[in-house]
Amino acid sequence: TQIISLTNEESNQMTMNTDVNVNGRVYTAPKTCAIVICLDGCEPAYLDVAIGEGLMPTLKRIRAMGSDHLAHSVIPSFTNPNNMSIATGRPPAVHGICGNYLYEPETGEEVMMNDVRFLRAPTVFGGLYNAGAKVAVVTAKDKLRALLGAGLKFDEDRAICFSSEKADQATLAENGIENASAYMDRPVPEVYSADLSEFVFAAGVKLLKTWAPDVMYLSTTDYIQHKFAPDEQGAKDFYAMFDRYLAELDALGAAIVVTADHGMKPKHQADGTPAVIYIQDVLDQWLGEKAARVILPITDPYVVHHGALGSFATAYLPEGCDHGEIIARLTALPEMLSVLSKEEAVAEFELPADRIGDIVMVSTENMTIGTSQHRHDLAALKEPLRSHGGLTEQTVPFIVNRVMDLPNAPQLRNFDAFYYALQAAAQ
Ligand code: ZN
Ligand code: ZN
Repeated sequence: TQIISLTNEESNQMTMNTDVNVNGRVYTAPKTCAIVICLDGCEPAYLDVAIGEGLMPTLKRIRAMGSDHLAHSVIPSFTNPNNMSIATGRPPAVHGICGNYLYEPETGEEVMMNDVRFLRAPTVFGGLYNAGAKVAVVTAKDKLRALLGAGLKFDEDRAICFSSEKADQATLAENGIENASAYMDRPVPEVYSADLSEFVFAAGVKLLKTWAPDVMYLSTTDYIQHKFAPDEQGAKDFYAMFDRYLAELDALGAAIVVTADHGMKPKHQADGTPAVIYIQDVLDQWLGEKAARVILPITDPYVVHHGALGSFATAYLPEGCDHGEIIARLTALPEMLSVLSKEEAVAEFELPADRIGDIVMVSTENMTIGTSQHRHDLAALKEPLRSHGGLTEQTVPFIVNRVMDLPNAPQLRNFDAFYYALQAAAQ
């Protein structure tokens, strides 16, 4: 009988069966699939409202029976820095991705930071894959896919990584799956839609049922959260939809961490127009036209969400300018919550010193930072602005469907998600 039970045990083993060190953290070998779900822009209030209205019975049960915590995101509270922190288990100082955008003073060029060459640390996915794990990563927007998939190899049927945005373009060689749209029997959703995120959840359920990964990361888009406040119907529908998929993943026995890359706050005036301080215009007045260079790392090609307006900015100051005086004058502006020197920001927010400017600015809860007024095309903004990037969007949910002994924010970070998901999966 001993031999039979051993054989059964072996047949139930995951393909990864040793603990693995990635970026100095030890990830436990899972006994069941470990899933992290990153709900983009999930301010905790979205869950509270939806649960309060009876729309999320599964998450309500998981909160009561498992572990219900709050964690802190990394600053800037933007999508890419936080997704890459979750993917590497470390802050931007380690992995290098501190925004969507980077200014290279040597060349005077602004470049997108979504290329793998900007990534300075291996991902947990790559580390676990190398230790034998079967890894699945599904993201809503394709802008993150290459970064998340760095270090995965697609020639052994042990890795799948695709975006719902380009699901139909997935290939075995590049994504570990041929035409994910056909696999899902679902059309590629519109890029600005709740469907783009639903596709991610649906793919997670199908992959868990048919492909049995050891580790899975599901990362959505915050289109809905930019558009709707927690008490609006569009938001409620989204979370009710998510809860149905969460129920399926939970019922299949996976260990699940639900967290977010950042929160989301209203950033508009009473009349619905965006609340913005155009800080390039301010610095032009103080220092002369274009003497300083303001960089908004939220800037990306998907401007319908936020008009490139968030609560975090960095600026390169001209030679010979008194940084202390500029910081003092900026700090005195009522729109600013925190203005730090590069050195302070590197220490406080664990940012890569060579990829931020001379100063870092964070605006108040209902305020955003723009460059120059004429450079922002706000015509695309159809709803009163909701956005993120600052300290007021740093608190995010951290919910596990297992009983665990976890710290709370500020000790608990969203990028602890895989560390605890794998511990939960080892129970
Ligand atoms: Zn986001
Ligand atoms: Zn966003």
